[in-house]
Amino acid sequence: MEIEFQQVGKKYESGQEALSQVSFHLQQGEMAFLTGHSGAGKSTLMKLIMMIERQSYGKILIDGVDLRTLGAGSIPYHRRRVGVVFQNHQLLFDRSVFHNVALPLMISGAEPEQIAKRVRAALDKVGLLGKEKFNPQALSGGEQQRVGIARAVVNRPQLLLADEPTGNLDPKLSAEIMNLFQEFHRLGTTVMVATHDLALVARMRHRVLTLNKGRIVNDGGFG
Ligand code: ADP
Ligand code: ADP
Repeated sequence: MEIEFQQVGKKYESGQEALSQVSFHLQQGEMAFLTGHSGAGKSTLMKLIMMIERQSYGKILIDGVDLRTLGAGSIPYHRRRVGVVFQNHQLLFDRSVFHNVALPLMISGAEPEQIAKRVRAALDKVGLLGKEKFNPQALSGGEQQRVGIARAVVNRPQLLLADEPTGNLDPKLSAEIMNLFQEFHRLGTTVMVATHDLALVARMRHRVLTLNKGRIVNDGGFG
């Protein structure tokens, strides 16, 4: 998926200007980090891509299509093309790993056979095949985050967005999770990861977009 922001701004109803004059172009298949202090606007930028929030001004093009031209009926379709990973992974502890990962497929009405095949493929990609029947509560923090990633990719999204995916993990596990994102990037998925972890970002050698008070203050090589 290709993402282009042209002079985008977001002002919340509170009056808070979360993003100002943000412009960047992420090519199909590119991987980029999004950094910046807490409150810099990272989550807001991702919410605009997901159409959870709407921009106040400027233009957002996804694969060349202006998001403002998408009707309400197209929004679920748009969101299905995007996989999202959160810091607290938001797993459901009342069901197995399998059913957590299967959730997006159930919502989109996939056939049970397809679901079983895709869930196994996704768990395989994150190294958790064999843990389908476990309750996520029985897994370590790093494993739980992998389940969250499997769930994000089970629909084979064209874009993977991660908001502080390593926030609760130690450096070794964080590096493993970042390597996973890199593998999806190698498979052709566009990847954007918001993170505070500058040391990790520097080692990964991808493009880094830095936000400061809602503005892009740097766009270039590894931090
Ligand atoms: P980050 O993800 O970099 O921490 P956010 O995008 O969450 O930054 O926040 C950017 C700014 O917008 C902050 O000042 C934050 O308080 C404000 N903000 C975020 N969400 C809302 C909201 N729903 N209503 C009002 N202000 C918000
Ligand atoms: P099939 O035709 O057997 O469904 P595909 O050729 O569509 O298989 O895909 C091959 C494998 O690659 C599958 O296991 C699928 O899960 C995986 N795959 C393809 N694209 C992605 C993606 N973006 N994210 C995760 N897995 C993917």
